[in-house]
Amino acid sequence: MTWLKNTYATQLPNSLFSPQVPVPVSNPSMTLYNGALAIELGVDEHLKEERQALEYLSGNEIVPESQPIAQAYAGHQFGHFNKLGDGRAVLLGEIETRKGLYDLQLKGSGQTPYSRRGDGRATFYSMLREYLISEAMHALGIPTTRSLAVIKTTDKVFREQINEGAVLSRVAASHIRVGTFEYARYLREEGDLVSLLQYTIERHYPELLNHENHALALLERVMQKQKELIINWLRVGFIHGVMNTDNMAISGETIDYGPCAFMNTYHPRTVFSSIDTGGRYAFANQPNMAFWNLQVFANALIPLIDKDEEVANSKVDKVMKRFPETFSNVFFEMMNNKLGIVNQVGVGRELVQDCLELLAKHQVDYTNFFTALRWGGELIDKLRHDESFKTWYVQWNIARVKGASVEESDALMVKNNPVVIPRNHMVEEVLNSAVVGDMKPFQTFLEELSSPYKEKASLQLVPANFDASYQTFCGT
Ligand code: AMP
Ligand code: MG
Repeated sequence: MTWLKNTYATQLPNSLFSPQVPVPVSNPSMTLYNGALAIELGVDEHLKEERQALEYLSGNEIVPESQPIAQAYAGHQFGHFNKLGDGRAVLLGEIETRKGLYDLQLKGSGQTPYSRRGDGRATFYSMLREYLISEAMHALGIPTTRSLAVIKTTDKVFREQINEGAVLSRVAASHIRVGTFEYARYLREEGDLVSLLQYTIERHYPELLNHENHALALLERVMQKQKELIINWLRVGFIHGVMNTDNMAISGETIDYGPCAFMNTYHPRTVFSSIDTGGRYAFANQPNMAFWNLQVFANALIPLIDKDEEVANSKVDKVMKRFPETFSNVFFEMMNNKLGIVNQVGVGRELVQDCLELLAKHQVDYTNFFTALRWGGELIDKLRHDESFKTWYVQWNIARVKGASVEESDALMVKNNPVVIPRNHMVEEVLNSAVVGDMKPFQTFLEELSSPYKEKASLQLVPANFDASYQTFCGT
């Protein structure tokens, strides 16, 4: 019996995808299986037998009646338009749940018509990395694609060196991206764009169906979702690293965990990706880039917003104009939450601005600082040598008990500040053990990351200068 739907393949014009079965792999073995997620999705019955799960999730056997496809898309990569598509992934189909449809995609599943010069494969190392960080993001309460399994193969994958290969099963609200709309708009006919819009709204935002202007309503909704997402990234110090328009999901989920990393020492210009030499996707530039991507999204929707291009543009401008101001309001609210300011009425922006300046000046750990504020201790004692910090600290103490108790303020801080995040040195350490066959450190760390807000006995320690030479890579 089939347990996957194929709405993308059956409801959308076939110019938006290519039928593609996964290319078989050699000797698949189950390295990671997310049983809790399988239960949540209601697919545990179909996967409970390990031999069967291995066949389906390696792509060596197709789920009965499933119609696997590679999705077509385009995208602006570092500002430049390119024709792309699933070059190393296959959508097996959609799982129907109470919360709607979820894509089940295999990543590293072999070449497709969109592979260009790529081999269609993924390394064991990078699929483990995606599993770890995406599950950590989920535990942090941040919308994200999830990881159902990592299956190791004995096929070699050639990058700078010879690596072991793997297939990741990725679960997403959908894989519809800004780039999917760019593809339909610029490389296909208007009818395809209309179908894509209709499908997207029905699948993700059916409440917009009674809106008189579907395209404009979708733009507004996606803008709101992106705003919430980026605010969450800024809250926990997440740097996506490659916010190209093909890596921006219409669902508002974090997608594509290539060169991402978490910031340790606070600095707005922090970048880890080896290819982001200009700092386009630096920590504090992420809101600007989300705005840039939304403008690309709006441009792709223009013909559906109004037949008259000028009218369409002015409607778009009206919506886009609201982004900077509303973003900044929500940003300060989020930062004040981190500071435990319960009663924010009449609270200015100085407390947050001064705080961030002090963190940058003293090279303070962004995550540890907000917990240390509650705990006291060495981190705060050191800062007290600075008169301007002392002044700030007094003001903070006054602000947080204005119309609230210390307990209420603490509770707000606990809710908004993780104690445990995927520290770069830890990620490296557990992945390096994993590739030589020891999964234990990975499992222990994954477990720890599953309750990031839980009070711990101590703060995470970061080796001095580790980040100075830390680099992350795309598409490995
Ligand atoms: P990414 O950097 O992962 O967002 O990928 C950008 C584009 O490159 C997408 O179209 C991917 O499908 C494609 N791509 C990345 N790695 C490979 C690979 N090993 N083989 C084929 N295509 C790839
Ligand atoms: Mg991508």
